[in-house]
Amino acid sequence: MSDYRMTIGLEIHAELKTQSKMFCGCKNAPEAYENNREPNTNICPICMGNPGTLPVINKEAVRKVLLVGTATKSKIADFTEFDRKNYFYPDIPKGYQISQYKYPLVSGGSLAGVELTRIHLEEDTARSSHEKGDSSLVDFNRAGVPLMELVTEPVIHSADEAMNFAKELQLLLQYLDVSGANMEKGEMRVEVNISISNTDTFGTKVEVKNINSFRAAGKAIDFEFDRQKALLEKGESVVQETRGWDENKEVTFSQRSKENANDYRYFPDPDLPKLTISDIPEFSSDVLKASLVELPQEKREKLKSLGIKDSDIEVYINNRGADEFFNQVEKIVPSENIQLASNYITSSVIGISKSLGQEFTTGKMEPRNFGDMIVHVVEGSLSSTGAKVVLSELVGMGGEVEDIIKEKGLAQKNDPEEIKKIMEEIIKNNPESAEGYKNGKESLLQFFVGQGMKATKGSGNPELIKKITTELLK
Ligand code: ADP
Ligand code: ZN
Ligand code: MG
Repeated sequence: MSDYRMTIGLEIHAELKTQSKMFCGCKNAPEAYENNREPNTNICPICMGNPGTLPVINKEAVRKVLLVGTATKSKIADFTEFDRKNYFYPDIPKGYQISQYKYPLVSGGSLAGVELTRIHLEEDTARSSHEKGDSSLVDFNRAGVPLMELVTEPVIHSADEAMNFAKELQLLLQYLDVSGANMEKGEMRVEVNISISNTDTFGTKVEVKNINSFRAAGKAIDFEFDRQKALLEKGESVVQETRGWDENKEVTFSQRSKENANDYRYFPDPDLPKLTISDIPEFSSDVLKASLVELPQEKREKLKSLGIKDSDIEVYINNRGADEFFNQVEKIVPSENIQLASNYITSSVIGISKSLGQEFTTGKMEPRNFGDMIVHVVEGSLSSTGAKVVLSELVGMGGEVEDIIKEKGLAQKNDPEEIKKIMEEIIKNNPESAEGYKNGKESLLQFFVGQGMKATKGSGNPELIKKITTELLK
């Protein structure tokens, strides 16, 4: 039997950052939730679907979806409309959700090598909680929050690829400041569609919901692959259905058989105007393009062209503070030393920041000070150990690099005579190690270098120490 190949398509929802909800004036700023945790207080007759009320389209929410579509080089719709997706569930007060069906705002395009089907705009549901045992509670504060839905083509073939796509989308949404996109907070929700097949045609797909982390998405995919494969190998078939992800047991479980689009009786919402996007000046492609920031992929390419190594690039992509500092440093440090400078940012400065409980901080250090420090390292007058001391001091206390080197006695000792004296002393005090080295135990050289660095309080030039020690031990 030939191997099964897995096919995955993603449907990702993201709550948009706007001042107000999708079709009413209720607040949607995160502050509104934080100060307003009390259930059912951030609601009004419109988002509660009371009869006789009229929804109004939130222009900013539309703009944000168009911005994402512009960043993914997708097609922005000329004509668009909102539809009612009819179904009953306690978390949708109107008995339908306003969504988009036939004419999504955005279609096509790609991200991280994955082709997109569409991106449309809809409204979020309320939150149900079933913690009370025999009864359930519904909090409508979230009902009507603008929600973007992005659908990919079924072109993904591994859990890693799926997770990579979802992470890239999260980054993009955060760079564009379109959504907080925090999965744990439910600001971004990933649903995976998975099928497997050992022929040229697609297998029956299963949709998995309730995934609240990238890790869970990967695990759910791997679990489904195994489950579907076992079914097919037994000669059974995969049922097209919606399954949930059980975070504790790390399994998927059947929730309901999949409804078809026509079960929802989609039809254009008669209360909302249809939009001709091309007639709206703020939504012209020029205006949208002009409001794009530098995107993660562009940033990667720029850093790569400067000769920065990939692991550092990913640090900058994910750490805004480090990235901003690097950009300032890049203006002062000559290009041949930029990777060296980057090493100190991604290891030492981030290390110091973490020890201070922050993602990134330069404290009292100016980019100019950092540049001076690099000059000393390049000239050989400051060792890498000394450099770390200088950085801690700069961040914590500020000051000039020259002064810190003097005060702390960090000037790297490059005087061969002085190093020779120190090493002769060390060799004299460690006759067994010296003997061992002479008898072929070469790893003992590192011991002597370590002792030399210790004796010079980290200010010895390790290369020089190594060279002199080798000569002395001949
Ligand atoms: P439905 O009509 O069931 O909503 P769609 O064709 O709209 O299905 O696709 C929904 C999602 O499922 C998309 O992300 C799509 O890429 C994915 N998908 C479609 N067919 C398959 C398949 N055979 N295997 C895996 N994913 C699929
Ligand atoms: Zn409202
Ligand atoms: Mg569909």
